[in-house]
Amino acid sequence: MKYPQVQQFIDGQFIDSYEDRFLEVVSPLDGSLLSTVPLGSAVTVDKAVQAAQTAFPRWSAIPIKERVQVFYEYMNLLRKNRQSLSELICEEGGKTMLEATAEIDKCIELTEFACSLPQLTGGEILDVSKGVECRTERYPLGVVASIVPFNFPSMVPHWTIPNALVLGNTMIIKPSEQVPLSVMRIAAMLKEAGLPDGVFNIVHGDKTVVEAICDHPDIAAISFVGSTKVAKRVYVRGTSNLKRVLALGGAKNHLIVLPDAVPDMTASNIVASVTGCCGQRCMAASLMLAVGEVDHIIDRICDEAKRVIPGNNLGAVISRSAKQRIEKYISEAETAGARILVDGRNTVVPGKEGGFYVGPTIIDHVSADMAIAREEVFGPVLAIVRTATVSEALSIENSNPYGNATGVYTQNGGIARQVAERASTGMVGVNIGVPVPREPFSFGGWNESKFGALDITGKSSIEFWTKLKKITTKWNAEAGVNWMS
Ligand code: NAD
Repeated sequence: MKYPQVQQFIDGQFIDSYEDRFLEVVSPLDGSLLSTVPLGSAVTVDKAVQAAQTAFPRWSAIPIKERVQVFYEYMNLLRKNRQSLSELICEEGGKTMLEATAEIDKCIELTEFACSLPQLTGGEILDVSKGVECRTERYPLGVVASIVPFNFPSMVPHWTIPNALVLGNTMIIKPSEQVPLSVMRIAAMLKEAGLPDGVFNIVHGDKTVVEAICDHPDIAAISFVGSTKVAKRVYVRGTSNLKRVLALGGAKNHLIVLPDAVPDMTASNIVASVTGCCGQRCMAASLMLAVGEVDHIIDRICDEAKRVIPGNNLGAVISRSAKQRIEKYISEAETAGARILVDGRNTVVPGKEGGFYVGPTIIDHVSADMAIAREEVFGPVLAIVRTATVSEALSIENSNPYGNATGVYTQNGGIARQVAERASTGMVGVNIGVPVPREPFSFGGWNESKFGALDITGKSSIEFWTKLKKITTKWNAEAGVNWMS
């Protein structure tokens, strides 16, 4: 085992687990054992909540301009440790070094946004009638929780940690049990940056911890990111316990490609979207809707895909079962009559035979009702459905239950605009395969890709992590007149 057993992080201390359930943490790159992670219980969650509750009055009373100083220091630590943090993401998440450093750079960017919150969170004030003034003030919610998925071991935690804490909340985070190591580095760096004990706590675990978070009476709000199935459960259970919940789910992202799209740029952009992070991104392109005669672009997509080499510029998928699931989707599509143009099944990387690799896969002549066209595959696989018109393509997109992102590739601004308006997704890319809005814009999908109001990052997060107080004041102009004259 390369690393010691993972500990819980409660009240500023790394502590051995109270429970005796553990899970192995395996590197997707070669199948080697990295560590073991404890699976906590409601008891551990309660201890973390108590620590966060105790820390809340002092932390929330510190002016935001001072709270943010911790995060300036933390941002420096992210920069200083960029290399080792990236290496850890590769090891536990199976990413390439390029992807992992991009992830840490995104963490820096997210922290940078949190450092700008003092300029963005001021209340409003207005004289609403003679002598009467209305003003708003923002207050943190209290103890909040963040539950995160495996696919960005560091970035998704940074969607919530800096903003929620700068805004005065204290937090419990529940990392993915598949990638529990990066979050431990985050805790150590927050402590080194001067974050008071108890403001940030980690409870490792699985479903049991998530359910305990949903049920705990002293947790005010939950942010969840993960699959739609679990997002729905967390949303229903959390809100039925009267918590504020924002739950981001899975995705099936459609790319509409027209014959006038710029061939090389379109092909390289689509392949980067499909294969980046081995297709394990909620913004990854998954289904291409080929409108009319676009064979010349499909040929280039295949050429480009063949340049993506597993173990070199393509990482591994998270687990053996993920590899099996992805390969099953490909085989079922083939059996149903689709044509495999580039086949990534049965990929083995020499020297890393224990790793979980799936090569880039391009499948043409998929029909819209096949599982591979409708469900989230979460691997480096592009299915292509042929359509005669943009309207037909849009109706396929609109009928999909997910709603994260849609892309359109064309040189026709009018058509691009139509697609942007009619797509039933929260994010749209025009000639961009991964249209992640950068701060201060907010990230979030529609439909079954997100449950709850608001988005998770950017300005929207200010609304989610705070509550507004509205104060209406009237001063009697006559009173105190004696002191004025
Ligand atoms: P997951 O839903 O399996 O797990 C997410 C979290 O929920 C983890 O912390 C896990 O421990 C916990 N969990 C798992 N099963 C549970 C259960 N039955 N009850 C309660 N908690 C449970 O997701 P994952 O496989 O870790 O991540 C991949 C998924 O996340 C994909 O669907 C992807 O699209 C989605 N995702 C979405 C976004 C977004 O912004 N919409 C971003 C990243 C990932």
